[in-house]
Amino acid sequence: MTRRIFRSILAVAVAVLLSCIALVMGVLYNYFGSVQEKELLTQLALAAEGVEQSGMDYLRALDGSESRLTWIDAEGRVLFDSRSEAESMENHAEREEIRQALETGSGRSSRYSATLTEQTDYYALRLSDGTVLRSSTARLTMLALTLSMLYPFVLILAAALALSLVLARRLSRKIVSPLENINLDKPLDNDAYEELSPILTRLEMQHREIKLQKEELRERKNEFLAVIGNMREGLVLLSDNGTVLSINPAAKAFFGVRGSCTGQGFITVERDREINLTMEAARRNGSAELSLSRGGREYQLRVSRVEAEDRPLGLVISVFDITDRVFAERSRREFTANVSHELKTPLQSIMGSAELLENGLVRTEDVPRFIGRIRRESARLLALIEDIIRLSQLDEKAELSFEELELYELVREELSALEPKAAERNVKLAITGDKATLCGVRQLLGEVVFNLCDNAIKYNRDGGSVTVNVSESGENAVITVSDTGIGIPHEAQDRVFERFYRVDKSRSRQIGGTGLGLSIVKHAVQYMDGSVSLESEHGAGTAVTVTIPKRQCR
Ligand code: ADP
Repeated sequence: MTRRIFRSILAVAVAVLLSCIALVMGVLYNYFGSVQEKELLTQLALAAEGVEQSGMDYLRALDGSESRLTWIDAEGRVLFDSRSEAESMENHAEREEIRQALETGSGRSSRYSATLTEQTDYYALRLSDGTVLRSSTARLTMLALTLSMLYPFVLILAAALALSLVLARRLSRKIVSPLENINLDKPLDNDAYEELSPILTRLEMQHREIKLQKEELRERKNEFLAVIGNMREGLVLLSDNGTVLSINPAAKAFFGVRGSCTGQGFITVERDREINLTMEAARRNGSAELSLSRGGREYQLRVSRVEAEDRPLGLVISVFDITDRVFAERSRREFTANVSHELKTPLQSIMGSAELLENGLVRTEDVPRFIGRIRRESARLLALIEDIIRLSQLDEKAELSFEELELYELVREELSALEPKAAERNVKLAITGDKATLCGVRQLLGEVVFNLCDNAIKYNRDGGSVTVNVSESGENAVITVSDTGIGIPHEAQDRVFERFYRVDKSRSRQIGGTGLGLSIVKHAVQYMDGSVSLESEHGAGTAVTVTIPKRQCR
């Protein structure tokens, strides 16, 4: 800007200077011309008077005068010339000034010399005898005058130019320096030029608007970061060229990123071929999904293309931990397969026995044994179906009614129901502890105690014992069922709560187990917000402890 102002000022200065010189030249030229003309006319008038009185003698006596005098007769013949031989000169009748003088009494004309640098002015007067006296003088033309003054002009021009340069530089700096020092952060604090105040006011308004928008933007960004920071799902935003714009902690954990990776290419974060192929597919088709396992967990990646007005902006990668879902699906599939198998085995046995009986292939003395088998297998089938129904109720979180229960009493009732079975196996039952009341589901608690005691009897040794202890511990009611039975091997202790898991399949089946007892215990206890734990020593016995919050029934 400074340079532009400087150039403009300089151009104006030079233009003014040249115009002034041209004007002065013109004025001078005209002034000198008119002075010269006056002088010439005066001389001519004097000479005419002289010639009128003394004729040729006067003219001869004038030899060496400044201007040239020529005397011409009425026919144009030159009678005298102060610079040339009159006889050698051509006829002047056709000369402009002579013709005018012969016709009107006086005449004038100007003619340029061959070089254009000199101009000759002619003035002619008709004398009383009809002859004409002409005076002529050479005058420099404008061009010649200019050329003759070239040197001083150049000097003046150079001096003026130097002065203009200095002044133009100073002036342009002076104009620009207040503009350069404007504080754009506080536009209204400036008083540089009054003309700038509308712009500065507008600037101030824009400043405020930008400040507000920035604050709003910061708030939104913080909100966004808070939201994605607390998300369990991983979220990554990528620009169109694959740069990470944002990544939340869950995604960092998934991709194993430590520190910040914002601004880096996603390729430096994740090189997995399948993930990159999924991203490519999302770029092409709009979205793509991928299921994968990492660190013993199952994940689903969903990649979506983000667009604005048909222009690709980037990609969004969402990472979902679907371990629970996958395991639930897997155990559902396994459960269905196991149920079919478990149902099929007793049914096949029933069918086989029934067919033999029907075809009369069983000896009379063996009939009761076959009928006994059919009854046992049917009872097993019934028990199995009842257990499945109970489990599905618990899975579906069926609405069961809670009531105030006295645990010691409930345990006593369940134990008395198991008394015959215990006696059959020569197992002693005992109950210890104290009264404990809690808010629970009677049916579920009954089943929990029954299943645990049933197992303790089933997997006991001849002459063994089962002790159930009821107690209160802080906010909880605690039941512990201990036996002196065969115990559970260490490696199987976590698995006995799984559906259809048995340590010894044939033994369990033989003694009428369904493989669902402990699963029902676990789910029933969880239904009442409690927990179950197991301690066992292989060959020495098992103790299962159930803890249930007492809470009050409303
Ligand atoms: P089951 O109907 O086969 O008893 P459960 O789910 O009740 O099924 O128990 C699963 C397995 O855990 C049993 O098959 C058995 O091998 C083992 N088990 C359960 N309770 C005891 C116990 N008190 N002593 C030894 N083993 C046990």
